[in-house]
Order: sequence, then structure tokens, then C-alpha cells
Amino acid sequence: MTKTLERRMCSKCKVLKPLTDFNKGRCVDGFHSYCRSCINMSCKKSYHKRKGEGREKFLEYRRLHSNKYRKNHIVRARELAKHITREEG
Ligand SMILES: [Zn+2]
Repeated sequence: MTKTLERRMCSKCKVLKPLTDFNKGRCVDGFHSYCRSCINMSCKKSYHKRKGEGREKFLEYRRLHSNKYRKNHIVRARELAKHITREEG
């Protein structure tokens, strides 16, 4: 009698894989809902994410305060223009 291999669908890549492809975790049935390759990928992704977090934060800050940034930029540009025209005239 052949033992039926238990399978489980990875909730990330939606592929039916044998339980041996899943790491044991703290989930209800004792296995992660993501297969090993997906977990590896997400680990790599989060690593890269962490690496570029400083830049991400900066970009997010700039996005949030983009109006302020733009305003300051315009004011500065105007001031500069004033100076330039004064020097010229
Ligand atoms: Zn997967």
C-alpha cells in the first residue's frame, strides 16, 4: 500500500506541494502556509528591503512633504531670480 503523500497549497505561489516542501512553523497544523522557496524569496526580499530602508524612508518623507519641498523650492528660486535681476539691473 502506497502512502498518499500529503500535499498542501502554498498560499503565496498557489502551487500544490508535498508537505516536505514546507517548513514547520507555528501555524494551526504545524506548517507554514508558504512553501520553502517562497519563504526564501520573501527572506531575500525583506533583506533587500531592510538594506534600502534609509532611502525608502527618505523617499516616503519626501513624498509626504512634497508640497512643502516644492514650495520651498519655488520660494528659493524666486529669491534667486530676484537677486539675479537686482545684480543685473
Ligand atoms: Zn510557494
